[in-house]
Amino acid sequence: MSNPETDLRATNGRAPDVFRRGAWVPMREYSDDEEVDFAVVGTGAGGGTLAARLAEHGFKVVALDAGPFWRPLEDFASDEKEQNKLYWLQDRISGGQHPIEFGANNSGRSVGGSTVHFQMVALRWRPEWFAARSKLGYGRDWPIDWREIWRYYAEAEDALKISGPISYPWGPPRGRYPYRAHEINAAGLVLAKGAEALGVKWAAVPLSTLSAPRGKAPPCVYRGFCKVGCSTNAKQSVLNTFIPRALAAGAEIRDLATVSQIEMGSGGRATGLVYHRQGQWRRQRARHVVVSGYAIETPRLLLNSATAQQPQGLANSSGMVGKCLMTHANHAVWGVMEDEIRWYKGPPSMTVCEHWNYEDRGKDFHGGYAFMSQGPLPADHAKALVSNTGMFGMQLRQHMALYNHMAGLKIVGEVEPHENNRIELSDQTDELGIPLPRITFSFSENDQRLYKHSLQFMRRALESAGASNLIETASTAHLMGTCRMGTSASDSVTNADGRTWDIPNLWICDGSLFPTCGGVNPSMTIYALALRAADRIKALAGRGEL
Ligand SMILES: Cc1cc2nc3c(=O)[nH]c(=O)nc-3n(C[C@H](O)[C@H](O)[C@H](O)COP(=O)(O)OP(=O)(O)OC[C@H]3O[C@@H](n4cnc5c(N)ncnc54)[C@H](O)[C@@H]3O)c2cc1C
Ligand code: SF4
Repeated sequence: MSNPETDLRATNGRAPDVFRRGAWVPMREYSDDEEVDFAVVGTGAGGGTLAARLAEHGFKVVALDAGPFWRPLEDFASDEKEQNKLYWLQDRISGGQHPIEFGANNSGRSVGGSTVHFQMVALRWRPEWFAARSKLGYGRDWPIDWREIWRYYAEAEDALKISGPISYPWGPPRGRYPYRAHEINAAGLVLAKGAEALGVKWAAVPLSTLSAPRGKAPPCVYRGFCKVGCSTNAKQSVLNTFIPRALAAGAEIRDLATVSQIEMGSGGRATGLVYHRQGQWRRQRARHVVVSGYAIETPRLLLNSATAQQPQGLANSSGMVGKCLMTHANHAVWGVMEDEIRWYKGPPSMTVCEHWNYEDRGKDFHGGYAFMSQGPLPADHAKALVSNTGMFGMQLRQHMALYNHMAGLKIVGEVEPHENNRIELSDQTDELGIPLPRITFSFSENDQRLYKHSLQFMRRALESAGASNLIETASTAHLMGTCRMGTSASDSVTNADGRTWDIPNLWICDGSLFPTCGGVNPSMTIYALALRAADRIKALAGRGEL
């Protein structure tokens, strides 16, 4: 039997059918010498979505991913350790005052990108965050009006059949979610009880997993392994939504294809990609190149593609490639309930409180945070306890024996964009000879005030819900920034479409575009940017402006 981690699956005119064991769907293929319209690096929330939509708009598209092409039904196990195979595990050198933990639980390496193992929380941004500087007095303004992104949120929610509540208590009114909300689990009800005791609103989390059948995908069966890959296909990831659409529209997906450099021609335009697949270095010619490798790999690739004309890396005349890395503060409070909770039953976060995203009064910090109910799997939770509290041996065993009675609340907390938080190339290289990224990250004083506020508030909420033995943990989640979009070539890497200012046929489409990071999970905003970018590209092509 072939091994998807070493043997190509998307080849010889076919690609895996993600909905059937051992089955295939036809795939169009392009030769390396054929100049495709778009070569896309990365097939996650940004790249996979864009590839599908561009192919549907009639462009010739090849999308390459360093990771395997999984069939969830046959490749995913209910086993935390085995499923580490979904993550980007290659070395990243992490420093600064608060080094980010990389490896498992950080970013993905699969066709479908990080959405294959993400936790499915599908939230929209508060409108004011798109004009944070002008409306709220901190951070930066985005170059796009919130109404436009909100229109694309609706489209992305429909494409993913997001299951959400009939009315969402924060922000402007929105239409009904395509699918009904999931029934809330006991862990979610703990948040509800705590929020009500403190007089703040709460809601069912809109989730990217089905609450009713959709085609060949069944509804969620609440088995709780979402964060290590959903083996039933209930989770709506890029792998089982946009990738099949891309293939059906004539895009080629190349699995196990690692791009090392973007090639430049004499006229200041990109001419294609250098990539490694099955032991061979190859070159794909393209009229346009899109980089969608996420917030570490995208700047890494641009920096590693430096030329004599652009010695600081491609598209880097502003000096902003790799700068202003953001992550979300992901601090948590955990407690023990008298009743059995069995928090692993269902998606990890089933209820949310966005009070401190929408309330600007009574804060000693700027920015916002959401907090959500939790349901970590055992190894994941034990690891958080060991690294945060030093608990070990018999003490850890005794604490973990309370697993079925535990509940927890965790934030997604906004972090400021700072130029010192950055990615550079180190002198060390990976197995293909590509320089490893060196990452520097420190929380600012404001960031620290924000998460301290959240810890106090969540502590009160958990205690009000009846929890005892409270424990706090610190962590980070998500990666954003490093190639921000903006209105000026002097202080940003791309315009609002993700088109780099310096190289007209080089584009970026992923989480690295974010100028600020808001206080909710990023994927819906990445999807919205990708759908919008594809429509803008179509419009530009129609006007002869590509
Ligand atoms: C554990 C976890 C849980 C999360 N939960 C949520 C959640 O509940 N809600 C939410 O909104 N967000 C969540 N996220 C974040 C979300 O998954 C990401 O923000 C989003 O997927 C990023 O999209 P992207 O397109 O920028 O990158 P990705 O989706 O990571 O895709 C990048 C792809 O590029 C490929 N790639 C990179 N470099 C190269 C190269 N040189 N050559 C070829 N291929 C390359 C990678 O293999 C990868 O497949 C979670 C993330 C993690 C890690
Ligand atoms: S809880 Fe639902 S989405 Fe998560 S792994 Fe199970 S079936 Fe998939």
